[in-house]
Amino acid sequence: MDPKQQTAISDCVSKGQILFDEPLSRHTSYGIGGPAEAFFLPGDNKELARMLRIVSQEAIPVTVMGSGSNCLVSDTGVPGIVISLADCLNNFHIDGSSVTAGAGVTLGYLVNRCLQAGLVGVENLVGVPGTVGGALIMNARAFGGEISTHVDRVRTLTLDGKERIYRREDLQFGYRSSGFRPDEIILEAEFHLKAGPPETIADLQQRFLNERKARQPLKQRSAGSVFKNPASDLTAGMLIDKAGLKGTKRGDAEISVKHGNFFVNYGKATAEDIAFLIKLATRTVRQQFGTQLELEIRTLGFQPGYWEDEGLAG
Ligand SMILES: Cc1cc2nc3c(=O)[nH]c(=O)nc-3n(C[C@H](O)[C@H](O)[C@H](O)COP(=O)(O)OP(=O)(O)OC[C@H]3O[C@@H](n4cnc5c(N)ncnc54)[C@H](O)[C@@H]3O)c2cc1C
Repeated sequence: MDPKQQTAISDCVSKGQILFDEPLSRHTSYGIGGPAEAFFLPGDNKELARMLRIVSQEAIPVTVMGSGSNCLVSDTGVPGIVISLADCLNNFHIDGSSVTAGAGVTLGYLVNRCLQAGLVGVENLVGVPGTVGGALIMNARAFGGEISTHVDRVRTLTLDGKERIYRREDLQFGYRSSGFRPDEIILEAEFHLKAGPPETIADLQQRFLNERKARQPLKQRSAGSVFKNPASDLTAGMLIDKAGLKGTKRGDAEISVKHGNFFVNYGKATAEDIAFLIKLATRTVRQQFGTQLELEIRTLGFQPGYWEDEGLAG
């Protein structure tokens, strides 16, 4: 990014924050990732729209992130501008059984406020890190409940500045997938939930949290499950376990001993270390069981074709 472009994008920020050469390791749950040329936390929707106009005029590449809890960012970082909605656009409102949440609201906040209001539907997502925007893109799911089940409407902004409103039926939500276009940013979502007794919701939440602690390596940094499950009765974790790969290390990265589909960072792991283990697991599972794994995590900043040798989309 040249100095003229840097000035143009700095000049359009008044409420939010713009940082240059910002290490993305500070903004991912892995604690991994090289710098973003520019890292933008919008102060509000208007500032975001203004920024999109400038970056489009300047032909600067745009990448959107929530709280980076499902992303592996390359060690060389991400060119252009990374727009992060973590801690931004976090308006929140409950009106009866209708809940409106800005894309930057954390899932933890959404789950807690719904519990306080005695609303049932999103308690399964307790303990899932991330933002409402990221959860909708990924169609976050836990303990049989998916965020898409209760969504009514979603408001987005395209990179060329057009606002769109989707109803649930317009979006093809699937297993860890949604029908949003790659060129749009989720701004806000409205959920419709049902009333329920807070004690029951609290009990359920506690049960889910206990199960999470028992099954997942929550003491180390990770991005949750690396691969999608090939089928509902065949998990990627089971295949990786059967292939004898649990505990395999590369540098400070490890295929968790506790959960075969969690690849963890003990402190100084690089994206290359995690990528090495991802490719190893993909190859070994294919050779031993004939199953091609598919990535669940989103990869950012890798060279085109980086994942192709193992048949991964990246
Ligand atoms: C310990 C741990 C446990 C986890 N457990 C679960 C689990 O049980 N179930 C589950 O489903 N996931 C789980 N995850 C994965 C992750 O938390 C979810 O996928 C979460 O919804 C991602 O949200 P995020 O804001 O961090 O998104 P990010 O990781 O920042 O982004 C994910 C994708 O969404 C896009 N995106 C983010 N925000 C927007 C937006 N506003 N507009 C447009 N695009 C956007 C990004 O470009 C990227 O492609 C876990 C992760 C960890 C670290």
